[in-house]
Amino acid sequence: MSISRRSVLGLAAAGLAGSALSFGLLEKQPKGLRGWSRPKTRAPKNIIFCVVDGMATQVLSLADHYSQHHYGKASYWASILDDPRMTTGWQDTASLSSVVTDSAAASSTWGSGRRIWNGMLNMYPDKTALAPIGQLLRTKGMKTGLVTTTTITHATPAGFTVSIVSRDLEPLIAEEYLKVGPDVLLGGGDKFFDASKRKDGKDLYGAFAKAGYEVVKDRAALKASKGDKVLGIFDSSHLPFSVDRDNSPAMAEKVPTLAEMTRIAIDKLKGSKEGFLLQIEGGKVDHAGHGTDVAGQVHDQLAFEEAVRVAIEFAERDGDTLVIITADHATGGPSLNGAGEEYADSLKAADTIAGMKCSLPTLIATMGLKPKADRVADVVASKYGIKLKKEEAETMADILNGKSPFAFSEFLSGSSQGLSVVLGNYSKVLYTSGNHTAEYVPVTAFGPWSESLGGLTRNVDFNEVILATRGIENKNPTMDYATAAKHMEKLKETMDAEWFAFNASHDDECSCHVHIN
Ligand SMILES: [Zn+2]
Ligand SMILES: [Zn+2]
Repeated sequence: MSISRRSVLGLAAAGLAGSALSFGLLEKQPKGLRGWSRPKTRAPKNIIFCVVDGMATQVLSLADHYSQHHYGKASYWASILDDPRMTTGWQDTASLSSVVTDSAAASSTWGSGRRIWNGMLNMYPDKTALAPIGQLLRTKGMKTGLVTTTTITHATPAGFTVSIVSRDLEPLIAEEYLKVGPDVLLGGGDKFFDASKRKDGKDLYGAFAKAGYEVVKDRAALKASKGDKVLGIFDSSHLPFSVDRDNSPAMAEKVPTLAEMTRIAIDKLKGSKEGFLLQIEGGKVDHAGHGTDVAGQVHDQLAFEEAVRVAIEFAERDGDTLVIITADHATGGPSLNGAGEEYADSLKAADTIAGMKCSLPTLIATMGLKPKADRVADVVASKYGIKLKKEEAETMADILNGKSPFAFSEFLSGSSQGLSVVLGNYSKVLYTSGNHTAEYVPVTAFGPWSESLGGLTRNVDFNEVILATRGIENKNPTMDYATAAKHMEKLKETMDAEWFAFNASHDDECSCHVHIN
């Protein structure tokens, strides 16, 4: 299923009606947190919302197993799960159009407190714009910040900040940011700011500088930055996978880690008299999930958890900050499987993953176009430390030459998916698909009001808690599935395709764009 830039409009609304309604989840917008009322205790001054995009619970536990085996200590998120000061729970992740959400609808549920059609940002298919928290809280004097490892204009940061008909309109989202004015913007997406790369030739860097932003483009400049308002863009598109960054001195010199960006963002926001709202996104865990890429996923998960550590340690010192840690949905369905006699081989998975020195897309790129089996075996040996059997190398070569034995499969016919089945013989990790999946995702919260987020919280209800910290009532209108589906049909008919194509991002380097991401 594809929405993405082929449009908001590629989704067959009518075809979804039966399946969506049969789950009984989507007929009505949820009506607020069950039994929740505004806590009597003092509301948090600051809110840090840490979202790991596309993290299935299996990734949380896989990263912990990896960390314990390889580093001899628990991963950070796992280590705080058992801390009695934390509230833990689950989040339901449905959107207005499906039980499987995309990132735009997911972040918009937090942004607007309403379920949204997949692919749209804080807007219904009849183009009714909903007010997002990133704008509402600024009217109360709060500062805001967005930090991500994707393009800064990607669905998750945008869902806190803008209302727009499609997530794919990233050049326009960059312009919307200028109007809304988040104080801190750190991530990728140079092509949406640089006049020479934008189709309309607008100099967004210049416009941001004129609006008082310090513009920085590498790690050293970010560390040296003095301004309160900063736009930091460190890649043409998304930032690299952590496993690629960490194995490339040049990338490591240019691109800051998510933890480094988080620390600097907090430093710039913490002086705000009325507090701040900061979203931290580990966006590449989702991309690695789409790419069924175990090394990519484990290392970006651990990098995200180090950013969470920075947020929690600030909140511990500050005492007036609510930290929420969650995912927007799961992606890929990876599991570390029991393998070998008495499952003893599963233990070796951590060693195998540790031997993988690049992401799966980098591995494939290193093999070159249409590689032969010998070339495949050589690259897998040198980059992943795995000695493939002859039939495994031949199968991988077949997949990369358009002859996948899984071509019949709706979920495993893609080349990354096919390769990951072969590599799963060594990593012991298999994926169910390269798509988003429907599971509930974990929630951990710390600080004032964190107790509001225990148990099973619907995605829309985070908005209610966050707005209540400032006494704001959610006035966004609701829309049910059937009405939205009708408007979606009309939107598809009336959307100016030329206008859309001109303003949409054309991001072919990100495998997640093949599917809804
Ligand atoms: Zn997502
Ligand atoms: Zn995704």
